Amino acid sequence: MDMYAEKLEMLIDGEWVQGGAGVTGALFNPANGDEIARVPHANVEDLDRALQSADKAFKSWKTTAAVHRWEVLSKAADLLEARIGEIATTLTLENGKSLAEACGEVQFCAEATRWYAEEGKRAYGRIIPARSGDVRQLVLREPVGPALGFAAWNFPAGNVTLKIAAALAAGCSIIVKPSDETPGTAVAVARCFQEAGVPPGTLNVVFGPPAPISEHLIGSSIPRKVSLTGSTPVGKLLQRLASDSLKRCTMELGGHAPVIVFNDANLENALDALVTAKYRNAGQVCTSPTRFYIHESIYEKFIAGFVTRSQQIIVGNGLDAGTAMGPLITSRRLDLMDEYVADAVSKGAKVALGGERLDRKGNFFAATVLRDVADQARVMTEEPFGPLAQITSFRQFDEVVERANSLPFGLAAYVFTTNLATASNMGEALEAGVVGINHTSVHEAETPFGGVNQSGYGAESGAEGLEAYLRTKMITEKRV
Ligand code: NAD
Repeated sequence: MDMYAEKLEMLIDGEWVQGGAGVTGALFNPANGDEIARVPHANVEDLDRALQSADKAFKSWKTTAAVHRWEVLSKAADLLEARIGEIATTLTLENGKSLAEACGEVQFCAEATRWYAEEGKRAYGRIIPARSGDVRQLVLREPVGPALGFAAWNFPAGNVTLKIAAALAAGCSIIVKPSDETPGTAVAVARCFQEAGVPPGTLNVVFGPPAPISEHLIGSSIPRKVSLTGSTPVGKLLQRLASDSLKRCTMELGGHAPVIVFNDANLENALDALVTAKYRNAGQVCTSPTRFYIHESIYEKFIAGFVTRSQQIIVGNGLDAGTAMGPLITSRRLDLMDEYVADAVSKGAKVALGGERLDRKGNFFAATVLRDVADQARVMTEEPFGPLAQITSFRQFDEVVERANSLPFGLAAYVFTTNLATASNMGEALEAGVVGINHTSVHEAETPFGGVNQSGYGAESGAEGLEAYLRTKMITEKRV
């Protein structure tokens, strides 16, 4: 309890406030179930104040010189970097992931903010040659307007930073509704931006029950843009709300990443990369490798290597030195893991490792390897969001492409092969927004990240991430 240092407040019109709906939401440490804080909730008046201030602030922030916005964002990046240790500790206490992972996430936030700061200076328009000599045709890139950001708890710093930095770099104001499961991290991130000089109202942060808050904020005519990092069902809901006033959306939604390992793959390299990626944030990652399709000729060898490496994953409190994997975010998710394992086993799968919750305080589930998993098992079609690796075999290229592409999701996909033709054919054949070939690092500050199909649309980071907060205006000007 005493280690949880962040003071939970909401940021409205440049002031840190407790909000009118009371400090009601209990916050628990997933590693031991202890209550660590109470979360302030916004009432309708707070939300309206946030909306009004975002509207007012947008009018001046959009005309602020890009080079000044760069200065502010660069300072925010420096502050994020200087506070890595304290932000990461708050993050681990709320989310459970290992401190090393949390530090890496905050470092990513600093890099992404710096990258957006630079990119904001390059929101170039263009001049299109006109059909007559006395006409000039200008294409301007303008900030789209006040934005709304809704973010999931699995990357409590990254998910909010990507929205804040992109919106501010483009010249938009933004109201962020972070997950109530990880509020302190969002507050700590927002303090960096505010202290860097983001003017009052340009960045607002509110907490509270997601459904009424999103209905009220999206129902307002002030915001012109909605960006969500969350599950597919919530994405559909928010898009429906946004349609009434035709707000633009960026939807970063769930995934169910196939991994295809061919018999010519460098197996040791594949195993090292995949085991690390699988247990990152206890599998609660939208790009987590989840459906393992292994060529039948290397199937047994792959499973043996995966199990051996998984046995070495130290599960524990993320703050303890040596912990590789922390708890799941809530006990509800443990029940779901139990259901997935039982269902897979009832359809023919065998538990090669783990398969059960750990007998200790906190939401801990064992690193789990399931083999011979039927394509019809629930865990092969529903996003597992937990430390489960479900493995099956394949024989042929076309067959595995069809199986990999059989779900409505399309976020990440991974291929391991040393054959150049297989690599490029696979890269093109897979229905995914990001494809990792022979490694799993599919998201950097400078590369576009986003899904296709029911994993959403639009991208964060990369030039596309800034684009999401810009609109186009064409001015045609005749000399008279
Ligand atoms: P979620 O969709 O339940 O919640 C995400 C956000 O939406 C939170 O801020 C939450 O408060 C809000 N929300 C929840 N219910 C809402 C409602 N009824 N109305 C309005 N807002 C609501 O997702 P989660 O369980 O918190 O996070 C996990 C999901 O996020 C997974 O599906 C994961 O794949 C996805 N995710 C996607 C990406 C990506 O970039 N594609 C990244 C991380 C997580």
